[in-house]
Formats: sequence, structure tokens, C-alpha cells
Amino acid sequence: MPRARPLSAPTRDLPGVGPKIEDLLKRIGIHCLRDLLFHLPYRYADRTRLLPIGALQSGVEALTQGRVELCQVRYPGRRSLLCRISDGTGALTLRFFHFNRAQEAQLQRGALIRCYGLARRSATTVEMIHPEYQKLNAEQPAPLEQTLTPVYPATEGLSQGRLRRLTTEALAAMRSDAGGLEEIIPASLLRDLGMPLLREALEYVHRPPPDADTALMMQGRHPCQQRLAFEELLAHILSLRVLRSEVRAQNAPPLNPPDNRLSEAMIGALPFALTLAQQRVMAQVRADLSGNRPMMRLLQGDVGSGKTVVAAFAAVQAVASGYQVAFMAPTELLAGQHFLNLGQWLSALEIEVILMSAQSRGSGRGECLARMRDGAPLVAVGTHALFQEQVKFGRLGLVIIDEQHRFGVHQRLALLRKGESGESFPHQLIMTATPIPRTLAMTLFADLDLSVIDELPPGRQSVRTVVVSNVRRGEVIDRVAEACRAGRQVYWVCPLIAESEVLQCQAAIETRAALQEQFPHLSIGLLHGRLQAREKERGMQQFRSGAQDILVATTVIEVGVDVPNASLMVIENAERLGLAQLHQLRGRVGRGRAKSDCVLLYQPPLSGSARARMETMRRTTDGFAIAEKDLQLRGAGELLGARQTGLQGMRIASFERDARMIPRARKVADALVERHPQAVEPLVRRWVMTEAGIGSV
Ligand code: ADP
Ligand code: MG
Repeated sequence: MPRARPLSAPTRDLPGVGPKIEDLLKRIGIHCLRDLLFHLPYRYADRTRLLPIGALQSGVEALTQGRVELCQVRYPGRRSLLCRISDGTGALTLRFFHFNRAQEAQLQRGALIRCYGLARRSATTVEMIHPEYQKLNAEQPAPLEQTLTPVYPATEGLSQGRLRRLTTEALAAMRSDAGGLEEIIPASLLRDLGMPLLREALEYVHRPPPDADTALMMQGRHPCQQRLAFEELLAHILSLRVLRSEVRAQNAPPLNPPDNRLSEAMIGALPFALTLAQQRVMAQVRADLSGNRPMMRLLQGDVGSGKTVVAAFAAVQAVASGYQVAFMAPTELLAGQHFLNLGQWLSALEIEVILMSAQSRGSGRGECLARMRDGAPLVAVGTHALFQEQVKFGRLGLVIIDEQHRFGVHQRLALLRKGESGESFPHQLIMTATPIPRTLAMTLFADLDLSVIDELPPGRQSVRTVVVSNVRRGEVIDRVAEACRAGRQVYWVCPLIAESEVLQCQAAIETRAALQEQFPHLSIGLLHGRLQAREKERGMQQFRSGAQDILVATTVIEVGVDVPNASLMVIENAERLGLAQLHQLRGRVGRGRAKSDCVLLYQPPLSGSARARMETMRRTTDGFAIAEKDLQLRGAGELLGARQTGLQGMRIASFERDARMIPRARKVADALVERHPQAVEPLVRRWVMTEAGIGSV
């Protein structure tokens, strides 16, 4: 019998946890046994059933087994180890890009292999990339798992096996420590909701019993999972309410609206006239900024709707009033681009714009840091490098955050805290192109006021989208040639070949080489995530300047990149991308006056939902329509890669799946605030707060 431990005991009290493991656990936010209890599986692996190879479905993880028929190392292209196994119902190819001699030897012809992985079906083959596998001893029975296997969020050095052992300990502690786990939602409310108790839910979710409804569990729709997701949504909503009232209670520096001379100079510096939507939103921002409470505004506008210039006007208002502006972008590429644009627009007004990147160092950097610390009125553009310890703002009046979906609430707050000086708090403007439907926006960003730019600049031609099978690649090549001949530029995007970034980059490198062979006389650039920031910026600069005809890239160009002369985008393996991402990517073309096209190249055959996605993209360019469709399709339970599922900072709730609980969660949040205010803080602490409190991450 293990000794009973309180849930507050530190993880180091557990067997097998030394300083190293303790550190790794802390890194993922686990300090005590209670934290382990709330470290929930983000999915399950079903190894309770063995599927015949012939029954494997594309896009579904499964356990199967068969005998090795063939095993060989494959060149050319990416060097890989291919192993074909078969069980009489079909053949399955196991593909490894990283492998060693021992593996090659093990996967010998005739060996019996059991493997677990994501099956992918093409017209002629079924394959698994980097499956887990074991060689079976044909003489001895190899039993199957009795229950679903929980898969926990982990970090390098922390194995699933260890997390399972540790959560087992935490569950034992929960059973013996009656007072250690509080049911915070009042019993009466819980009864009305018809939800299981917290303890039951945790027990079930960590260790689904053998008779658990596998399909329901795999989708995250079991009542026990829903109960936890509900509590998390509730805590999230409450935390934003708390936050909002806390920030609203602060003072902010009132920023004087720019005088006529200044706004006219600014408008004169622009190469275009503002749209009505831009003007309307600017007026809202201007009014907020001149108040003495911190502005907390979300600026939503489809890709290409012209959010940057709205931000620029806000920056002018702050600098003209003697304050500093921090302008944060999610990538170095985008920061560099904002720096160029703002520099161009604001130089006419003699406003200083500086770029703070993680890379910039040397005397220039030291000087910038000093000027920022001294409170010189300026606009500092950068990535999260703006969060770094050494960066201090002496007189921060406004924080602008671009493409909010890349940052969590916590990061945003950390930046605000930087500007907190004595009595005053900076204003904040947050921009996003993610066309989240309004009800969702109101939850995710419940602490913010909403402005929407619902009009594109005039003269934009909507991008024409065609869906083309890989078999007709030749026609696509002709189109590329044609666009380049007309002096236009082309993006060629190679997304997800595999989840691994290394593999993605390799695909881009190979595609570039192949295109260069096709077009010896054209200049073709390359952009992927593994390049140094400096190389990326140089590459982008070359493409922007028109020195390159084609830019082959991974999805690093997804957000914000703005080259109006680019009029054709080819997206390979489009069937593997989600709608939101396709829409973001397509937004890179159609930014100038030229008629623009987008080619979605796919690998046949298309699954039903992939077909629906392609069709949606072909039919509409309206971001909101696409978002609705996206929710609807994914609501059907399809998973599209980890980064698109789940919410930022949420452990278990997911919008696609749990959106329908939001109205109920909001109601319960109201009830708690009104009738059980003492429940608010513990709930927020349980699900949202980190060790050092809200906003410390
Ligand atoms: P997003 O909202 O996606 O961030 P940007 O701010 O990058 O959009 O603007 C997209 C492009 O449209 C940029 O080249 C920008 O200079 C241009 N632009 C912005 N406003 C207008 C306008 N009113 N008329 C014409 N072009 C505009
Ligand atoms: Mg933008």
C-alpha cells in the first residue's frame, strides 16, 4: 500500500522523481500532486482493438499487425526506410525518415510486426509515417490493452509511461485525501446541469474503464470529459471578467487626438484613401485613447482589410502625446514588414520607429534600449523579443498586438505589466484576422471591446480559386510560367508533408530544386522555418523587391506577408490543411490591382470532408462564411493537426467541440458572480492561473 499523500505534496515526494524530473514537471506547470490531477490527457490511443490492414481508414490512428514482405532504403528524394507488411487483407507501408541499422535489421522479411500510427491512404497504398511498432514473437501471445491509453501533454525527457505512473499516484492521493480536492461549483448548480462530480470525472478521464464508450471518449464527448471542459470554459470566462474589471479600474494616460495638421500629414503620406470602415474604426480607437481608462479593444478584420494603418494612426496619437508604443508581431518576418511600412508612413511626421528583434544586438541595440528606458517617444516594433527582461519602457502609452491568435492572454498581460508605471496602465489594441464568429469572440476575448473592419479596400479583385489534382500538375506549371511572363510573382507553398518541421523544410527545398529545373531562367527564392531570421528577412526582402519571380515556402508565410505584385499562389497538399489556414494563406494574394488566382493542388483521392473544404474555398473568399463552415465541418469530429484544435491555453476544452456549452457556461458564470462570489477565485486559480498569478507567463 502506498503511503497516503496530501494533494498539496510536491512531486518530489513521489517515487522516481528526482531533481531532474521535478524540473521537467515544473516546466509544464506541474508542481504538486494536485497539478498532476489536472494534467489531463489531450487524447487517447485505442490499442484495445487490432484492425486488419484492409480496414485501416485514412486519417485514423489504429493498431494493426502483419508480416514484413519487403524492407528497403529508398533514395532518391528524401532518404527513407520503407517497410511493407501484409496480413492477407491488404498491405501497409511503414515509412521512416529517421532510422538506424538496428531497425533495418529488425524489420527483416518474415518478421511479425505490430504497429500503431496514423494511417494515410492514397490511390494505391496505405502508409504510416513513423509508427510506433514492436516485433512480436510468433510463438507467444501478445495481449492487447484493456483500456484506452491516455496521451498526456509532455515535454522532451518526460515519457508517456512516466506521466501515466505519476498520474496513477495522484489519483491514489485523490481517493485518500478527502478534503484535498474541492468541488467548487455549488452542488445545486451542478445538479441543475446534470453533471458528474469532479472526482468521478477525473478518475474516468485519466483511466477510462474497459467498458468506456471508445468512440465517445476519442471524440472528447463523454459526460466526464464534458464536465471538465465545462468547468474549464467557466473558469476562462470568469478569469476574463475578473481581468476586465481589474484593468478597467486602472488609470491610463489620456492621449490627445492628433491635431488637424498631423492627421492631414499622415493621410497625405498614405498612397491610398482610407475606406469608410477604416475611418469608423479609427474614430472608435481615437475616442478610447483620449480617455483615462485603458483602452482594451480587439480589431477584427479579414486578411487584407487594412488593419495596420489603423494601428499606425493609434501610434501617432500616442507618440504625439509624448508616449511610447510597443507594436508586437508574431513572427520576425511580420515585424520586419511592419517596421518598413510604419517607417514609411511615419517618417513624414518625423516619428521615430525602431525594430527590436531577438537577433538585433551590438551598439545599435544598446542605444535603442537606452532610449526606450529613458522614455523617448517612439514606436518599437518587434516580436516577443519585446517581452525580454532587458527591454524596459520608460513611458509606454500604447501596446499594439498583431495577429492575436498567436499569443495567449497571459503574454498579452505580461506586456501590459511592462508599461505599468505607478498610477498608469497602457492602452491596448489587439488585431486579428481570425474570423471567429461573434459568440466565440465574446468568450475568448470577453475582456475586450470589439471593432470590425467589414470592408476591403476598393479595387480588390476577389481571388479566383481552382482545385486541381496533382495528376494535372503540368497545367499548374504552365500557369506559373504565364504569371511570371506577365511580370507577376508567385508563391508556391509546401505545407505539412509530416508533422515534423524538418521534413517540411526538406519538402520545400526539394520543390524549389524541381521548379528551378523547370524554369532555369527564373529566379526562385526559398523560405522556411529553419532559416536564420536574417536569412528569412533577406529572402523576403528579395521577393518583395521583385528580384525573385517565385517564392517557395512552408506555411511560415501564413500570416501578414504583404507583396501586392504577387498574383498567383499554389498550395500543395491543400487537402491536408484546415480551412482557417487555407484562408490565411490565400490572403497573401489579391493584395494589388492585378487579378489573382489560387491553385489548390491535392493528392487524390479526396476524403469527404477534404472535398467539402476545397469546395468552400472555391466558392467563397468571405472569411466569416469560411469560419462558420470550418466550425461545422470540424464539429463533426475531424481532427486537423494539433495546432488547429484546442484553444490557446486550454487544457481540455475545444471550441469546435464545446462551443455549444458556452451559453450555459456564461449563465453559470453570471450566477456565480451574483450568488457565489467566493467560488470565482478558486475556479480561476484551478484552471487559468499560473503559480505566480494571472498574467505572469
Ligand atoms: P491586414 O488587415 O491583413 O493586416 P494590411 O494592413 O497588411 O492588411 O493591408 C493590406 C494591404 O492593403 C497593404 O498593402 C496596405 O498598404 C493596403 N491598404 C490598406 N488600406 C488601404 C486602403 N484604404 N486602400 C488601398 N489599399 C490599402
Ligand atoms: Mg496584418
